Amino acid sequence: MDVTLLEATQNPEELICRAARNDYMEAFNPELSFEETMETVEGDTIEEKKATLIGHLLRHGHYGPFEHAQATFAVKGCSRTCMAQITRHRHVSFDVRSMRYVSFDDVDPDDVANGELVVFPPSVTDPDWVGRKNKAGSVDEETVEQREEIFADAVQQSVQAYQDLLDLDMPPEDARFVLPLGTEVNIVFSMNIRMLMHVADMRAAADAQWEVRGMTEDVLDLAAEWAPITFEYYNENMRNRKNRLAP
Ligand SMILES: Cc1cc2nc3c(=O)[nH]c(=O)nc-3n(C[C@H](O)[C@H](O)[C@H](O)COP(=O)(O)OP(=O)(O)OC[C@H]3O[C@@H](n4cnc5c(N)ncnc54)[C@H](O)[C@@H]3O)c2cc1C
Repeated sequence: MDVTLLEATQNPEELICRAARNDYMEAFNPELSFEETMETVEGDTIEEKKATLIGHLLRHGHYGPFEHAQATFAVKGCSRTCMAQITRHRHVSFDVRSMRYVSFDDVDPDDVANGELVVFPPSVTDPDWVGRKNKAGSVDEETVEQREEIFADAVQQSVQAYQDLLDLDMPPEDARFVLPLGTEVNIVFSMNIRMLMHVADMRAAADAQWEVRGMTEDVLDLAAEWAPITFEYYNENMRNRKNRLAP
């Protein structure tokens, strides 16, 4: 899976600070320079002032200003299972590659057995992988070989059946019903920083599934480059906190 930042609000933390100063500064005026807007905020440099104000907002749960800065991410090759999890978040905007208009008629079913088109969970090949509801911890090599054979056969047959149905002129929107939940999909999604922190609370947590957790970790890494003060604070002080249901 690849996650990239497609587009994002420029100077997101300046925008957050301006919005917050609007709330607290009697003489706030959008014509003021950013330096003038931040004049009475504690700190020797403008970066320190931003860190003071953003830290204050996050510490006090004043999350409204974080809704003004938005980022758009492109995800290539996550499973439809992962898609079902991330699309539960109602304040995120999504575009998902259509399986009504895009058909996988040129994929060789033999390549599917080697990991093309369908995501192979790590528990297929890793004997030490521990997931939720595992009855045992590690398994032996023979068990892993059996898992791999069954999994590869099943997804290969499923894609073969899909292509046979397309050859019989079945519409892609109906033929897709035989494809596995692991079938890859590309997604573009946009969210503001407040929502990004909420999604990270839910999906980068230890109880989230490995794939959506990996996706969210990648989103967080990109977010940390885009809005460094906010996500440094989030990573150091807010992640893994209790009572994380709704910031
Ligand atoms: C580990 C894990 C396991 C899960 N297992 C299941 C499962 O087995 N079955 C299942 O169906 N789902 C499952 N979910 C999905 C979960 O129940 C939520 O639907 C999903 O995480 C979306 O998050 P959210 O409810 O915070 O809403 P979001 O859509 O992300 O909204 C953010 C916040 O806005 C507020 N909000 C949004 N809409 C409303 C509303 N209509 N009314 C009131 N407040 C609202 C809430 O405060 C909410 O927390 C699971 C999620 C996780 C992380």
